[in-house]
Amino acid sequence: MSENTAGKLSIVATPIGNLGDITFRALWNLKECDVIYAEDTRVTLKLLNHYGLRKSVFRLDAATEAGKAKEVSERLLAGEHVAYVSDAGTPGISDPGARLVAHVRENLPGAIIDAIPGPSALTAALSVAGANMSSFVFLGFPPHKKGRQTFVRDIAKSTVPVVLYESPHRILKLLKELNSSAPKCYVTIARELTKIHEEVLTGSPAELALDLEKRKAARGEFVVIVEPTTRS
Ligand code: SAM
Repeated sequence: MSENTAGKLSIVATPIGNLGDITFRALWNLKECDVIYAEDTRVTLKLLNHYGLRKSVFRLDAATEAGKAKEVSERLLAGEHVAYVSDAGTPGISDPGARLVAHVRENLPGAIIDAIPGPSALTAALSVAGANMSSFVFLGFPPHKKGRQTFVRDIAKSTVPVVLYESPHRILKLLKELNSSAPKCYVTIARELTKIHEEVLTGSPAELALDLEKRKAARGEFVVIVEPTTRS
C-alpha cells in the first residue's frame, strides 16, 4: 500500500464504568471521525447515545482483528479518519487494538496514529492503592489452567509490586493460590472502580479470601495488586 495517506487512526480510551470519565478529546474524535470500529458495537452505542453522538460503528474484536485491520487500512488509505475503542478503558491493555496498530504501522507508515489517552482500570487502581509504584510489573489476566501455577510462583518471587486483572469466577481461587505461594504478601483488590459498588480491600491473601467467602459471591471487576511484603 502507498505511504501517502491522509487518513488518521485514533486509539480512544473510554470509561471503565462511570460514563462521565471521558476526555473532551475522546468525545471530539468520536464526533469528528468518519467511522468507529469497536470491540462490541452494543457497548459503544450506549456510550455514543449517552453523549448524543451518531456514527457508523463496526465490530473489531480479538477474533476479527487481523481481517478488520486490513479493512481499516483501506479506509485510511482512502483518507478516512477512523476511531478505535474497546469495551472499556484503553485499547491494547488486555484488550484488542495492538494488532490493529501494528498492522497499520507496518503497512501504512505514513498514516497518523493518534493516542487519545484516558481511563484504564490499571492506572485507576494504582492511583488509589497507596502502594509505592515507582516500579511495578503488569501481568494482565492469569492463565486459567496451563501455566497458572508458574504464573502464581512468579508473582511470589517478584521483588516489585505485581498488578493483574482477575475475573469474579477466579478471584477467590487466586487468593487461595497466593496464600499457598506467598502468604506474607500484601494484596490490594480494587473492585468496581468508578461504579456504585466501588471499593478497595487490602490485607493478606488469607484475610481477603475469608472476606470474599463471607460475601458468598464475589461479583464485579477486579484489579489485584500484590506487594511482596506487608507494608511497614
Ligand atoms: N483495556 C481495559 C483497561 O484499560 O482498563 C482492560 C480490559 S480487560 C478485558 C477487563 C478487566 O479490567 C476486567 O476483567 C477487570 O480485571 C479490569 N477492570 C475493568 N474495569 C474495571 C473496573 N471498573 N474496576 C476494576 N477493574 C476493572
